[in-house]
Amino acid sequence: MFNVENKVVIVTGASSGIGEATGRLLAKNGAKVVLGARRSDRLEAIAKDIHADGGIAKYQTLDVTQRSQVEAIVQFAKNKFGRVDVLINNAGVMPLSALDKLKVEEWERTIDVNIKGVLYGIAAALPVMKAQKVGHIINISSIGGHVVYPTAAVYCASKFAVGAISEGLRQEVGGDIRVTVISPGTTESELADSISDEAARQGMQEFRRLCIPASAIARSICFAISQPDDVDISEIIVRPTASPY
Ligand code: NDP
Repeated sequence: MFNVENKVVIVTGASSGIGEATGRLLAKNGAKVVLGARRSDRLEAIAKDIHADGGIAKYQTLDVTQRSQVEAIVQFAKNKFGRVDVLINNAGVMPLSALDKLKVEEWERTIDVNIKGVLYGIAAALPVMKAQKVGHIINISSIGGHVVYPTAAVYCASKFAVGAISEGLRQEVGGDIRVTVISPGTTESELADSISDEAARQGMQEFRRLCIPASAIARSICFAISQPDDVDISEIIVRPTASPY
């Protein structure tokens, strides 16, 4: 169904939600996937499933806040498969709370994972892709990268940053390397589990009443990758049809 056969694709945050669904869909369509996240027991089980289904998947423990680990997974993919066609910077956290709760450590974690993790991914993959003279970097933003909600200031800031970084990267590297930013609306996943603030957690339960499955975002990612090398799908927003947000 998708034109991704034999592409070597690294997916960060592949242990659940959108990353897991994307890894599975890519492998089903013949891509060679490299799965990264901190919960390696989950990655092992997903890779085992993919193999049982006839697909190709490797995995490596990855904390995207550690630049050396992001470099290591890119080298791992290159060593295993000889190249890196696509990097999907998907790992993210969303510990929502009002700013006056002063959850400064959660602000820092959001910035470290959602912004610095993406930048480390770009830093690791770009030299490899430039040497290959082809490559594709896909960054997962959010509806929160387009609008701001109460309790979501830092999360939205991180996703606005992902949009700005993606657009800047696209303008600078266009020619050989494609850049795509994908902004999901509410999607089934474990993302809201990282909310420690009770009021924000309750607000999110209502907000997340309308959800689309993670496979819907996986399909849009596979669609972007499927295009010919001279076609850059620069941006996609995917949201529940009935969602007002
Ligand atoms: P999940 O919580 O299900 O997945 C998040 C993934 O990120 C997990 O695999 C987690 O793995 C990984 N992760 C978290 N911290 C780190 C880290 N330090 N290093 C490496 N991996 C990490 O949520 P989603 O699937 O929803 O999230 C995927 C992306 O989609 C995020 O960027 C999120 O912001 C974005 N998004 C999601 C929406 C939704 O409604 N679900 C809406 C808009 C955007 P582990 O804990 O094993 O490391």
